[in-house]
Amino acid sequence: MDKKKHLAPETLAAQALHYIDASTGAIVPPIQPSTTFARDANYALFSADHSYGRDENPSFLTAERLISELEGAEETLLFSSGMAAAMSVVQSLKAGDHIVAPRIMYWGLRNWLLKFCDSWDLKIDLFDATASNGLANAIKPGQTRLVWIETPCNPTWDVIDIAASAAIAHDAGARLVVDSTVATPVLTRPIEHGADIVMHSATKYLNGHGDVIAGALATATKDAFWEKVCEVRSHGGAIAGAFEAWLLQRGMRTLFLRVRQASASALTIAQHFSRHPKINAVLYPGLTGHPGHDAAKRQMKGGYSGMLSFRVNGGEAEALAVARKCQVFVRATSLGGVESLIEHRYSIEGATSPVPKDLLRLSVGIEAVEDLIADLEQALA
Ligand SMILES: *Cc1c(COP(=O)(O)O)cnc(C)c1O
Repeated sequence: MDKKKHLAPETLAAQALHYIDASTGAIVPPIQPSTTFARDANYALFSADHSYGRDENPSFLTAERLISELEGAEETLLFSSGMAAAMSVVQSLKAGDHIVAPRIMYWGLRNWLLKFCDSWDLKIDLFDATASNGLANAIKPGQTRLVWIETPCNPTWDVIDIAASAAIAHDAGARLVVDSTVATPVLTRPIEHGADIVMHSATKYLNGHGDVIAGALATATKDAFWEKVCEVRSHGGAIAGAFEAWLLQRGMRTLFLRVRQASASALTIAQHFSRHPKINAVLYPGLTGHPGHDAAKRQMKGGYSGMLSFRVNGGEAEALAVARKCQVFVRATSLGGVESLIEHRYSIEGATSPVPKDLLRLSVGIEAVEDLIADLEQALA
């Protein structure tokens, strides 16, 4: 492993950590579907790491180790979904602990957090990520145990300063977890900015092909809290499937190419439509006028992600009309795949949503950017 330390992350991803099968020379890791692992005549396990399939599966190892390398993490765990990864963090807290999270973030997780905290006697406060002291004011020193942030955050793409959040969290005795699904380790390595745990919906960019549901947590240090997270996975059983883990290591081989292409195209689209008469705002941290642009420049390298939103003149009806007319962008939820998607978030989230009704969320894929621009032009005409 040591000789790989100097290799660039692009190289480690492309080669799945220079994988070569010790017994066959195969350059692709095998899928191991076994649920149980044999013992020898003395009742010793063949490998101390493998006893039963709910605790560990050798099929996870390539993806887990690669994510650790890319994030600069001490250890990574795969989960059955991004939500399962996030829940495992929250389920590792104690009753009475206080959580702080942004008011605008991945909708499914925020809703689950609010319900779960209520029924499990956890306290939670949501903060406004666009207000200057939003996080500092929401923190309760000595009570706050978890600061959850997502950056850029869904679907307004506000940028939360990871280093500043880490300082506030650590001063108060809390740990900082960053949902880095949108930034990916290609653009941001949150642990280098002070995060304790990085969470991914691997369903999105890490896999990138719309055919795997999976999640990951990568930890800066294997401390007592991390041991609890490991226990939650092994006893709760929210593990990835062997085939999904295998698909994920394959998807990650092209992670850098995909994320860079999507980011470049998203910037081109954001700039192209920023003065369009039918659009009153393009939300994208890569635009110099975006309120999070300076923070984004500090913590994002090589691009600002493939995610952006348009606020369309004429409100909800006009936004839906634009989505209806798209022929290249696919009307579907999710993000981070090779194909471009468009979504009216308010229709999905409903009346309690803090998302503006005129907002269309775009997940830019790796198609020819001219085709994407032409599609949006005709939909806006
Ligand atoms: C999709 C998503 C999640 C949830 O992940 P699943 O894999 O769908 O469970 C969490 N956070 C963000 C930012 C996401 O986009």
